[in-house]
Amino acid sequence: MKFGMVAEYFAKLEDISSRLQLSATLAELFRSADKAVLDKVVYLIQGKLWPDFLGMPEIGVGEKLLIKAVALGTGRNEGEVESVLRKMGDLGEVAASLKGGNKMDSLTAFLGTRDEGELTVEEVHEKLAKVALASGERSRDIKVRTLAGLVKRATPIEAKYIVRFVDGKLRLGIGDATILDALSQAFGGSKADVERAYNLRADLGQIAKLLAEGGAEAISSVRVTVGIPVRVMLAERLSEAGEIMEKVGGKALVDYKYDGERAQIHRKGQTVTVFSRRMENITSQYPDVVQWVRDYLKAEELICEGEIVAVDPATGDMRPFQELMHRKRKADVLEATKEYPVNLFLFDLLYLEGEDFTTKNQLERRRKLEELVSQEQDKVKVAQSMIVEDRAKLEEFFFRAISDGAEGVMVKSISPDSIYQAGARGWLWIKLKRDYKSEMADTVDLVVVGAIYGRGKRGGKFSSLLLAAYDEETDTFKTVCKVASGFSDQELDQMQELVRKHAIPHRHPRVESSIEADVWVEPSLVMEVRGAELTLSPLHTCCLNSYREGMGISIRFPRFIRWREDKSPDDATTSKEILEMYRNRLKKVEVEGDESV
Ligand code: ATP
Repeated sequence: MKFGMVAEYFAKLEDISSRLQLSATLAELFRSADKAVLDKVVYLIQGKLWPDFLGMPEIGVGEKLLIKAVALGTGRNEGEVESVLRKMGDLGEVAASLKGGNKMDSLTAFLGTRDEGELTVEEVHEKLAKVALASGERSRDIKVRTLAGLVKRATPIEAKYIVRFVDGKLRLGIGDATILDALSQAFGGSKADVERAYNLRADLGQIAKLLAEGGAEAISSVRVTVGIPVRVMLAERLSEAGEIMEKVGGKALVDYKYDGERAQIHRKGQTVTVFSRRMENITSQYPDVVQWVRDYLKAEELICEGEIVAVDPATGDMRPFQELMHRKRKADVLEATKEYPVNLFLFDLLYLEGEDFTTKNQLERRRKLEELVSQEQDKVKVAQSMIVEDRAKLEEFFFRAISDGAEGVMVKSISPDSIYQAGARGWLWIKLKRDYKSEMADTVDLVVVGAIYGRGKRGGKFSSLLLAAYDEETDTFKTVCKVASGFSDQELDQMQELVRKHAIPHRHPRVESSIEADVWVEPSLVMEVRGAELTLSPLHTCCLNSYREGMGISIRFPRFIRWREDKSPDDATTSKEILEMYRNRLKKVEVEGDESV
């Protein structure tokens, strides 16, 4: 297929302003394309050479290099190209105009008799792939020469779109939905069937080719395939627990909503691939997760989904999403896995040993998933969940999730038709989460009442401390959080000593706690702590029943700032003050028009 035809269509598409016309013109292009290269045409329209999930390299040509290639390909010097670029602002236009001004090029384009024949889609794709795949010492040279060769052979309009493509500025603005629409217009097959196929096999190029070659029949035979991402199921959101219970018919499976990165995991024997929410191949970022899937999931062939969450290595407590971002930014992946450890919380099963699970109901999928995860480890877990049948239970579970470091809950329908709706946002899943991010403005001074041993590297040492606020009314200390971060190595050592010095054989009578400590501590040490926010919690006793029946208030993601030797425990922040801080925070939320639960 001639690339010139694609370029002509790109020019047409660029001028269209109506969505209907866009898909009609696109359908026309698809119909006139060679079936054998239709996949490549689709990728080019998307500004890609390959679908993202293959994890192939990007084209990797900066502007400077591209200017050099355009100069070489049009027989000008770089200075000339740069000065035209300053005037025109678009390197694609520059290439086209320099080619147009070149008498030989215009003549051959006019006569259609170029030495090596006209460029085909295959050739353009092959050459661009060569550019993308070039690596090593000579890669710059290979990239420039290959591109220059393409520009040299191209007609002005071809050069324009080749250069724009490489520059990442194709700007056709054509989304997946328009392409699907155009495909069904071009080749028949209902739009719903084409969409369904794409949802199960998220490769637009392949779907296009399949439809063009095999028609509606081929499309309806598309199945979930290990190695090709399934488009993810998404949730609707509501902010009121009662409304949610009504929506799900009074009974639902409720999961912790983990705050990390969604991972769709595909396994075939020892080959494990991890796809992101956007279906990018992120396998190389998670060598640890890949190994756990091999070691801890009892399945030869499966597709499952979960959330990868940063955790505190010593306590296993969840860390905020930002910590995962630190890991992703580090160049040395193995180093990053050590510095920023994660856990995997699985929440769905899409495929197992040849069987499509997306059509099975929620509980069936969950039960099977639970069977697959080995129990003798703590890296891969099935999401914390429970079946709820009323609003109060849902709210309690929500606050438990929040105070455990989760972002909220996912309420999942367990009706007989609660399938995995690939690629759809629907009411089968409803998210309930905190909308605001309010930093606690003030630090608080809290009293150490217990200590908890660490695991792994910090095994045998205390890694987190149970902290309490002072309750003036009852003259007791009521727990408000566990702190495990913010200590330097030296401060950690000092903390061990202090805890041992003040350890007592049982819970101090002035301490009210529903959490068990490994070692109880006499209330005497005061530390300054900064937290991310305050939240209702059924786990902590501070302000229990003051704001809501059955709920205390806790501090999320607390960090050690310093010891306050100048304060006695009775000078610590009081539960009354904590309640006040929580109320103020709520006021702020209301002012912002953002009430939750
Ligand atoms: P969305 O993904 O719905 O477009 P978003 O990107 O803003 O919205 P959230 O609103 O935070 O994400 O909620 C959805 C995400 O929650 C899911 O994509 C998934 O990554 C994550 N998640 C965490 N825990 C669960 C769970 N138990 N079940 C389903 N999804 C979960």
